[in-house]
Amino acid sequence: MSILVLGGAGYIGSHTVYELIDNGYNVVVADNMSTGHKEAVHSSAKLYIGDIRKEEFIENIFENESIDAVIHFAAFSVVSESMEEPLKYYNNNVYGTMVLLQSMEKHNVKNIVFSSTAAAYGEPQKVPISENDKTEPTNTYGQTKLSIEKMMKWQSLAKGLKFVALRYFNACGAHISANIGEDHSPETHLIPIILQVPNKKREFITIFGNDYNTPDGTCIRDYIHVTDLAKAHILAVKYLLNGGKSDIFNLGNGIGFSVKEVINAAEKVTGFEIPKVIGKRRLGDPAKLVASSQKAKDILGWKPEFKDIDSIIQTAWQWHKNHPNGY
Ligand code: UDP
Repeated sequence: MSILVLGGAGYIGSHTVYELIDNGYNVVVADNMSTGHKEAVHSSAKLYIGDIRKEEFIENIFENESIDAVIHFAAFSVVSESMEEPLKYYNNNVYGTMVLLQSMEKHNVKNIVFSSTAAAYGEPQKVPISENDKTEPTNTYGQTKLSIEKMMKWQSLAKGLKFVALRYFNACGAHISANIGEDHSPETHLIPIILQVPNKKREFITIFGNDYNTPDGTCIRDYIHVTDLAKAHILAVKYLLNGGKSDIFNLGNGIGFSVKEVINAAEKVTGFEIPKVIGKRRLGDPAKLVASSQKAKDILGWKPEFKDIDSIIQTAWQWHKNHPNGY
């Protein structure tokens, strides 16, 4: 069974490639290396370096490889940048996926698992958030992911494409081997930023607002381990190959942790005190985002294994401690 992983050199992509290989799949990775890392690509995967927006590049892969399903992570994902350069995000994320879907149609590749996001919901009407809740993104990044979901829907109705869109909440942690992990530049995510303090890369952490309507005033998020996300992609591939219908699933732990709680957990795990400064709210940050992942559990049979925030941070710390400068 051969799986093409687009964006397989990125954070969630590389962890998914490791899981696929551990489960006996043949893996082909395509990545333009704009934000990915060669060192993150498992040595047993075949790597094509190029851009999905280039038709010849993607055509060449489908002509040379016999692909049973595609897992698609190739996208820009920095929320603040997406607000400054919206067309950059439409071009890479939406147009890039359009070229991919055209090529899949031409080569009769029917199955795709797509990396979507909780940012598709925007400000939630209620928590936990379910898949049928209102989708009204508050940033361009989330909007491009939602647009791609719609594009896949219409392509599935017209041409028989079969897709699963996985809406992740806050991906975090690192592979248990600590050989691969999170390495973004610039880093914007809470846990790697916190861990820069014990790693002597930063003196303090700025908490973006402590006047939210939450018990300790800081934002609450649903932190889900990257390996649990990776496992959901494999279940989604199996689901599609077994005849499952196109669908959308949330992926989160269903438990919320505040920014302060995450900092406290990181202090416990690392044994370092982490100085904190209260800063301004970050534009577009909802107070509380927590997933209902009941649907993924019921239909895909998904069971996240990393339940508590300490063990998630522990895996992230192992990676960052051993790779203070990333790859
Ligand atoms: N956050 C923070 N300080 C930072 C980075 C993040 O207080 O230096 C907060 C952010 O406002 C949000 C939470 O941490 O409430 C998680 O942010 P992250 O960027 O990791 O993920 P997001 O929820 O935006 O996808």
